[in-house]
Amino acid sequence: MDNGKVVLITGASSGIGYQTAEMLLQQGYRVYGAARRVEKMEPLKGKGLQSLKLDITEEASIVNLVDTIIHDAGKIDILINNAGYGSYGVIENVSLQEARNQFEVNLFGLARLVQLVLPYMRKQKNGKIINISSMAGRVTTYMGAWYHATKYALEAFSDALRMETKPFGIDVVIIEPGGIKTNWGIIAAEHLKESSQKTAYEIRANEAAKKMKKSYTSNRLSDPKLIAETIVKAVHSKRPKTR
Ligand code: NDP
Repeated sequence: MDNGKVVLITGASSGIGYQTAEMLLQQGYRVYGAARRVEKMEPLKGKGLQSLKLDITEEASIVNLVDTIIHDAGKIDILINNAGYGSYGVIENVSLQEARNQFEVNLFGLARLVQLVLPYMRKQKNGKIINISSMAGRVTTYMGAWYHATKYALEAFSDALRMETKPFGIDVVIIEPGGIKTNWGIIAAEHLKESSQKTAYEIRANEAAKKMKKSYTSNRLSDPKLIAETIVKAVHSKRPKTR
């Protein structure tokens, strides 16, 4: 049962994105999932997912993604910008190249996708953009400077975008998850450890990475299904009339 709404979700190959795509498929949305590891989305293909390859750091890949969906479905009603990663490490040690790459994924790639999708949403005078930020977009933690910088920037970007798109009937929603048990923490911990090896911060960084890994492999963190439910609620939500 197709409810007629077309959703594009980035980072659907893993964690929060994967669970959200699955829930939306169950509810009859026509879901396009995008990520570099298309093979990871294979199990959702049987449930109706259209999986597409995307490297959000590459212009051609982003353009190709939007062109393919528009050619296939003619519109994108809901864009869920979920792809992202955390590269933890102390400011003194993290290369600017790594810092820039994090901004490419968490902000600039996302922004480019928004630029390409907006004309179609404006044309139909309707649409929703859901940006997955983080609590890390509100508060900072130890050795996470660049990740926090990307998410703080995403918060500002999203708030400004909402003001611009409101007259066109397009809403912008920010979701700020806390710690969710996905691969995110494992990747962040690995970056933290690697970037501080043989530096003055090595011992502290190793300790912090160990703690992070332990926490992301324990059952103390929330299941990604929980935040997927929140994202699905945002997909359903209507803009309050008072705003
Ligand atoms: P995962 O590592 O499980 O998933 C990250 C997703 O991002 C993957 O599907 C990955 O796909 C995709 N991605 C990363 N780089 C690229 C790229 N260059 N091009 C396209 N896709 C890319 O982590 P989560 O599910 O936890 O993360 C989802 C979002 O939630 C992120 O924005 C993260 O910052 C945010 N978040 C996570 C929290 C947590 O505790 N887990 C807390 C708060 C926010 P692939 O590698 O196949 O390309």
